[in-house]
Amino acid sequence: MVDPEAQPLPFLLLDGLQADREADGPEGVDEDMIVTQSQTNFICPITQLEMKKPVKNKVCGHTYEEEAIVRMIESKHRRKKKACCPKIGCGHADVRMCDLVQDEALRRAIESHNKKRHRHSE
Ligand SMILES: [Zn+2]
Repeated sequence: MVDPEAQPLPFLLLDGLQADREADGPEGVDEDMIVTQSQTNFICPITQLEMKKPVKNKVCGHTYEEEAIVRMIESKHRRKKKACCPKIGCGHADVRMCDLVQDEALRRAIESHNKKRHRHSE
């Protein structure tokens, strides 16, 4: 027996569920965004790999894998050229060895991120 008065109920329930999902949705998206963003920051613009020893350029604020940027600067300077910042969209065109500082905070962030990722996969 179907009670016609009960008919609208499933729709109401659906509406409620949808509203709940919408309320949950943006939060989930935000979390993903943060993860994606921080992962992007972990990527060296030269090697396109996650950095192990990130160094920060004091002048423009970009970070690179130490080995990669040092190699790039050396090879440019050997050809008597200036090393441009390899970060896309960065206009800094004279990256120097003395402008690079170890980015301890970022290195730790990458490490803890990797540890967390490890735990998740276990
Ligand atoms: Zn830069």
